[in-house]
Amino acid sequence: MGAVRKKKKLSHLIPKNHFCSFSLFRQEPLISWTYTDSVLFTAYDIYRSTDFWLDKTINSGKTLKEGLVELGFPEGNTLVADTGIFEMEAKKAGIARNLGIEVDIELTNTQIFEAYKLSGADYFVAPDEIILPQDNQVEITTKIGKIKNNLLELLEVVPASKVIAVIQGHSEDVINDIYDFHREQGISCFAMGGVIPLYFHSKELLDSVLRYVRNLTKKHWLHIFGLPRISLLQYYLHDIGIDSVDTSSLLYLTARRRYLVGSKGIQVREAVFKDCDCEGCNNLDSKVSTRSPNFFVNLYIHNILAAVKLSDNFVSHILDQSKTGTKIENSHDSETVQQKQESKIPDIEQTENVALTWMTAEESLAIRMRDGENETSPDSQN
Ligand SMILES: [Zn+2]
Repeated sequence: MGAVRKKKKLSHLIPKNHFCSFSLFRQEPLISWTYTDSVLFTAYDIYRSTDFWLDKTINSGKTLKEGLVELGFPEGNTLVADTGIFEMEAKKAGIARNLGIEVDIELTNTQIFEAYKLSGADYFVAPDEIILPQDNQVEITTKIGKIKNNLLELLEVVPASKVIAVIQGHSEDVINDIYDFHREQGISCFAMGGVIPLYFHSKELLDSVLRYVRNLTKKHWLHIFGLPRISLLQYYLHDIGIDSVDTSSLLYLTARRRYLVGSKGIQVREAVFKDCDCEGCNNLDSKVSTRSPNFFVNLYIHNILAAVKLSDNFVSHILDQSKTGTKIENSHDSETVQQKQESKIPDIEQTENVALTWMTAEESLAIRMRDGENETSPDSQN
């Protein structure tokens, strides 16, 4: 299985890089990004950022990657461009739910592709439509049509070898239909979308879908969008055998002053920095103010490196382990299988996920750094 998949210049963990709106990411030490081979950013970040650096770079005729490289970002690092549509939809839903208003954040394919062009990225995610478990047949058919059309539009501006195409759906028919179409267009790098809504609908169904898609794409790279909890790393990379996952949760975790020990985020006041020899911990001690940018950067570096260590360990463990086929079954069919699978997927508290939806990680961190954190905040319950 490895030959084709190893050719991809992607790392197992692909942290979201917040360089568009957060200057800390354009300064040392984060700009010399050595922690992973690839990072992800979104078209949405380009449009919502008011950072002068973006204007300056774009007006000078450079791509964003060229602008980053000029500042010290390693040229050989892979930059993955995503739409940010999920983040946008979640934000809209969150704002609407919490304030009772409709917000108008939309990005057309033309705007997304314009941002992609400006980015100079190495891989580009095709815009997708999230197929929800409660969608009816008409809605599903419409979304499949849009997914296919989006891919064709993207292929007019980006070669197939640089595209990450998204698989959606929760039945074999829908998944096969989308996958076959992508293959006909020469796609060899795939991502599974719609995972979070499916998680909240039925963990058993999510498990069956992921196993089915993994088997279907076994000769190719398979990415998963979004890692709401670090504890899901083991499940995605080890149990399912996914190749990569992107995340902004490491910045959220840092904004909440959590320090990763294994896959658990403990309060920083309980952390023993000298027990870890990573680059971040070497610069962390009790003399650094916990509200200073220096503290956040080094805590973030520790959290990234701890998550990378976790993902690399899982992957080396499963290397060359062959995967068997799985059929998507009705989740009511087998009690025993259901219970066994249920225990494998760690719980995400619904409240935590909702809290994350209407603020981006950068916004969350910016607010924490400005106002300081109330250590007994309600989200500190895990
Ligand atoms: Zn450390």
